[in-house]
Amino acid sequence: MSEDEKKCFFCGYDSEVTYLPQKSFSRLYDCEYCGTYILDRQGFDILREDENKFKMACVLNERRLKGFRGVALDDETKKEDLVCGYPRISVNELLAQFPQTAGEFLNRILLNLSRLAPRPFSEISLSFRRPDNLYLFTKDTGECITILKELSEQGLIRDGNSTQQELRKILTLRSWEIIENLQNSAIDSKKTFVAMWFDSTMKDFYEKGIKPAVEKAGYIAVRIDLKEFNDKICDELIAEIKRSKFLIADFSGLRSGVFFEAGFAKGLGREVIFTVREVDVEKLKEHFDTRQYNHIVYDSPEDLQKKLYNRICATIV
Ligand SMILES: [Zn+2]
Repeated sequence: MSEDEKKCFFCGYDSEVTYLPQKSFSRLYDCEYCGTYILDRQGFDILREDENKFKMACVLNERRLKGFRGVALDDETKKEDLVCGYPRISVNELLAQFPQTAGEFLNRILLNLSRLAPRPFSEISLSFRRPDNLYLFTKDTGECITILKELSEQGLIRDGNSTQQELRKILTLRSWEIIENLQNSAIDSKKTFVAMWFDSTMKDFYEKGIKPAVEKAGYIAVRIDLKEFNDKICDELIAEIKRSKFLIADFSGLRSGVFFEAGFAKGLGREVIFTVREVDVEKLKEHFDTRQYNHIVYDSPEDLQKKLYNRICATIV
């Protein structure tokens, strides 16, 4: 393999490249910035343009920082169809995730920078020798400097102890407040709130059904009873729903709390996935018009896991 072939296809930084002969000589790249991705030898026309290569590097770098697993780049998205363990995601879908408006640029730059800080108020180091400009969604070094200057003038960052090789910046209190608000709005969340009946008969459905389905899809399941809480359970519950990207409402046992939590999440504009045990379907119909919500009906934890995983992949971006 030539030196050139050991570079990341998107950001050009040194990376591990492995041939996958079983997949018509696709390559698996492992880049410190863009993470792990599989690219077909044929490539994609749209990715020949430098501008699109750069956009792709920014989006993949952001996904890596957010803790998403790698991707197999494809013409269309089929997350449940794995290539060497990586979900197929369309190139166009990823390119469309590049920020468009000034507000999006600002929010996502702040979120990226916050992910580089081990603790609030610790120094963030940015190098011009490495593709650190990906964090700023900007190809041009001059523009990077302009952005940092603008952030500084807006009171969002201040100078740390910079050296010749690297710039060190510190996010200000104002920045951390914005970041916390963005995280609470859950656009970026990996959490899934699970509203269900806490009964011993439901234990296996959670442990072997819901939890593995959520994790396989790349999210974290949050159940309020499994956490330590004080007497303000309701505040805690509302805060967790706000922090979650979507909610799974299991109506088995017809608990009123589940109806409340599902309604609250819907009111916040969150996606809600409805599930119910087969034995409870008739009872549920007496209380609730289930047809409009297309419930997942299951008869075993395995059945629930499979159906729920497919539903998450199909409906949650
Ligand atoms: Zn890269």
